[in-house]
Amino acid sequence: MLNIVLFGPPGAGKGTQSQKLIDRYHLVHISTGDVFREHTRMGTELGKKAMGYINNGILVPDEITIGMLKGVIDANQRAQGFIFDGFPRTVAQAEALDRFMAENHTAVHSVVALAVPEEEVRNRLKIRKNEEHRPDDEEDKVNRRINEYFTKTIHVLPFYQSQERLITVDGTGEIDTIFNKITAAIDSTALEN
Ligand code: ADP
Repeated sequence: MLNIVLFGPPGAGKGTQSQKLIDRYHLVHISTGDVFREHTRMGTELGKKAMGYINNGILVPDEITIGMLKGVIDANQRAQGFIFDGFPRTVAQAEALDRFMAENHTAVHSVVALAVPEEEVRNRLKIRKNEEHRPDDEEDKVNRRINEYFTKTIHVLPFYQSQERLITVDGTGEIDTIFNKITAAIDSTALEN
């Protein structure tokens, strides 16, 4: 198995790069944001619980998010590996992910952090607002999401760094150039495992 975490602030390009990585490595893509939005659309209990947080740009509580992620992993027992996009966003989530991987006799092999300056992230989200019409791309919600990233999610980086599992890739420039850097990083760590 090959399990990859794609990490970065909102607007870093996690979704774009995930699509390309799935084609390359044939992994199951788990975007927690997409799963939450799908539940919200379908009006499930989970969707109802998560909707208020998402639409306001606040992290969904760990208990809800971790339970949901376990459900998606369990539903994909035959996967050759996973790409986690937007998970983990807290240290408690990172610890839970390690537990779930261990239960499946596997591990998180590469954590790729896309580094994009805050200014550029804000610009990208402004452009996306006009293209995707996500309610949480409104300016005040974007501010909150970026704030959530820098107050809560950023602590996940030292968690992985201290275990020497973190690879930082420059997330600015051409999409294909960034992709090549990510695959080079994944291939070099995958060889070690
Ligand atoms: P972005 O990375 O652009 O913020 P996502 O689609 O990944 O967008 O996430 C959208 C929203 O879904 C987040 O603002 C948050 O409310 C919720 N969410 C997604 N993943 C998580 C997570 N791992 N933990 C808590 N909340 C999450």
